[in-house]
Amino acid sequence: MDRLRPMLGERVTDAASVRGQFGRSEAYRQPSPPDLVARPADAGEVQAIVRACHELRAPVVAFGAGTSLEGNAAAVRGGLCLDMSAMDQVVAVRLADMDVRVGPGIRRKALNAALRDTGLFFPIDPGAAASIGGMASTRGSGTMAVRYGTMRDAVLSLEVVLPDGRLIRTGRRARKSAAGYDLTRLFVGAEGTLGVITEVTLRLHPIPEAIAAAVCPFPALRAAVDATIAVMQVAIPVARIELLDAVMMRGVNRYAGFAYPEQPTLFVEFHGTRNAVGEQGERVRAIVAEHGAAEMQWAREPEARSRLWHARDNTLYAGRGLRPGSEAIITDVCVPISALAECLEETSRDLESSGLLAPLVGHVGDGNFHLLLLVDPSDGAEIARARARCMRGSSRARLRSTGRAPASTGLARASGRIWCRNWAARSRRCARSNRRWTR
Ligand SMILES: Cc1cc2nc3c(=O)[nH]c(=O)nc-3n(C[C@H](O)[C@H](O)[C@H](O)COP(=O)(O)OP(=O)(O)OC[C@H]3O[C@@H](n4cnc5c(N)ncnc54)[C@H](O)[C@@H]3O)c2cc1C
Repeated sequence: MDRLRPMLGERVTDAASVRGQFGRSEAYRQPSPPDLVARPADAGEVQAIVRACHELRAPVVAFGAGTSLEGNAAAVRGGLCLDMSAMDQVVAVRLADMDVRVGPGIRRKALNAALRDTGLFFPIDPGAAASIGGMASTRGSGTMAVRYGTMRDAVLSLEVVLPDGRLIRTGRRARKSAAGYDLTRLFVGAEGTLGVITEVTLRLHPIPEAIAAAVCPFPALRAAVDATIAVMQVAIPVARIELLDAVMMRGVNRYAGFAYPEQPTLFVEFHGTRNAVGEQGERVRAIVAEHGAAEMQWAREPEARSRLWHARDNTLYAGRGLRPGSEAIITDVCVPISALAECLEETSRDLESSGLLAPLVGHVGDGNFHLLLLVDPSDGAEIARARARCMRGSSRARLRSTGRAPASTGLARASGRIWCRNWAARSRRCARSNRRWTR
């Protein structure tokens, strides 16, 4: 504190209320407050802070928006929390190259608002109001990954402060390079363990001429998954294809005031020219009808679409609303899409025997789904039951089917044991020694 005060003034604090705020996130965890919170304004300040912590051997945890779900930004060993929210500038938009340089603290919605008049947009959409630095660090994905990829595809280069305070850039402006190690990909998904990201260059996409969304209810989960596989196999370039089970649809109806059938349902969206969107919609309509879906209900106007996706984005809160006062322990499973229907059915059977209420939502086009195990936070036995279900039974079963759990985060505290099972021993040793080299 004494070393940082002259440089940061009021932007470094040990006030309990602020430490408390940065000790919690959307993750269902006991709070882990840091000892200090500092809010740097630029990379130079990050370097100075990181250098001071390096000398004192104090842990540094970067904090974006705190929306990660697995305790990723928790200060489990105290130390200093870097609140990156002041580094939220759009540094440069390059229209011809379709890319943008931003500070890591900018939120994805603020970025899209800033891009509105350029005809370009940033499509990675995890639903939550996440920061770009946090999304890069968790290799975030979301509802549009099926069409536009994940942060692995979106991040073109990074500026990073290493643990000893050195500043590096991981790439240049050219899109292609075969020279040397791909350092960008090393830092994307590293969850701040290898350095603090101080600038991100992102790939952008043209705003589509036409967008249409639709809701299709199915008689059973398997029918919805089979229809999704058929859509993917004939390469219809859907922009989003999301699965909600009947329980989640009940939550969404209550949360958003909808009256959709409370059955397994796909939320689909199409992007392209007017003709392309019409054609994609017609082809999907024919496929889902073959799998027993009811008539698709369309949302074509921006307001109707945004209401629909707002409800989808808020499934965490819609799900929790089904059991007021509950917290959600969230699983994150990704399997090859061919194994998805079986995996979902097995999960449903698991749940029936557990007596737990657990709405399901999935980025089904990528074979990725989440269960929200709703628990009473004061009921230790129930929490233990939910954790056992989520960590041992379900995850192991999914790993046997050559999938991965969790899909979106690998290094988080909550997922440590699963991370170990996901990775072969040799890859684990390699990842660990990489982390040692950077210390
Ligand atoms: C309702 C809901 C739905 C969600 N759906 C999805 C989804 O579909 N797909 C998905 O991928 N995620 C999803 N998430 C999780 C979350 O939004 C992502 O993990 C997001 O990428 C985290 O961004 P953040 O800014 O909140 O990061 P934080 O939670 O603040 O931090 C996440 C990690 O990144 C590190 N970090 C943050 N900033 C930096 C930096 N500048 N440099 C280095 N490290 C840094 C932190 O130390 C931490 O390890 C969802 C969350 C919610 C609440």
